[in-house]
Amino acid sequence: MSLNQELHEALGYCWHELEIIVIDESLKKYGDMFFHRCKKCGFLTDDYQEECNPDYVADPRMVIREMMKRGELEAFSFYVWDRSDKLRYIASYLDIIRMVAIDQTGKLARLALDWLQKEGL
Ligand SMILES: [Zn+2]
Repeated sequence: MSLNQELHEALGYCWHELEIIVIDESLKKYGDMFFHRCKKCGFLTDDYQEECNPDYVADPRMVIREMMKRGELEAFSFYVWDRSDKLRYIASYLDIIRMVAIDQTGKLARLALDWLQKEGL
């Protein structure tokens, strides 16, 4: 299971697994009338598999937005701060900025998943 999937499910969402469904055979003359439907939750979309689930690793700002939605940004920020090197004050702020704004290796997503699992949220 990918880090993105693990985090998404820990946040309480479905990691969609799409299958193709034909909406109405009689409309086929107008072109391909199909949608994708999640096998697990029934979510309907015309997106493809790669587009229907979020990529927290590529865009760490999504982690911040999810924490805001949960009203837990402050508590999560303290958790992240606790795991940075507080003895190097300026450097640790920069580390956090890098983690939130630039990093694409999943550091913030990993911290969010650890935090959710530790807190049992
Ligand atoms: Zn789903």
